[in-house]
Amino acid sequence: MNLSASIPPTHQAWLLKSPLAPHVHAFTTHLQNGRYAAKTIKGYISCIAHFAQWMSQGNLPVHRLDEHMVAQFLVHHLPRCDCSPPVMRVPHVLRAALVHLLVVLREQGVIAEPTPRPATSPTNCAATTSTCSRCVV
Ligand SMILES: [Zn+2]
Repeated sequence: MNLSASIPPTHQAWLLKSPLAPHVHAFTTHLQNGRYAAKTIKGYISCIAHFAQWMSQGNLPVHRLDEHMVAQFLVHHLPRCDCSPPVMRVPHVLRAALVHLLVVLREQGVIAEPTPRPATSPTNCAATTSTCSRCVV
C-alpha cells in the first residue's frame, strides 16, 4: 500500500517522524495478510498515526509499548485530545488498530509479551470489565 496515497499528509508526518516509522510497513502488511479491506487499513493507519503523535509528544520509546500504554492513550489522552484534525478519535476503532500494532511489534520482537500488572479499577481502565484481566470487578 502506498502510504502517501492512503492517508492525509499530517498523518504521514506524524508517523514518519515517530518511533513507529520503521514498523509502518510491517503493520500494513499484517493487515493486508489478514485480508482487511483497503478502507479499514487506511483507517487503522490513521489510528496509529494519532498514537504515534501522542508517543512523540511524550517521548515514549517504542520498546515501552504495551496494553497499559494503549490504555493510557485511550483513557487519558483521548478525552482531552486537541491534536490537529483530521484525527481519528473513535475509541473502539483506535483500540482495534492498536491491538494489531502490539501484535506486529511482538512478532518483530520489538516489545515483550504481556506481563501481569497490578489490578486496576474498572473505572480507570479502557478495556471493558468483561475483557480486562487486570480489573477487579
Ligand atoms: Zn490526540
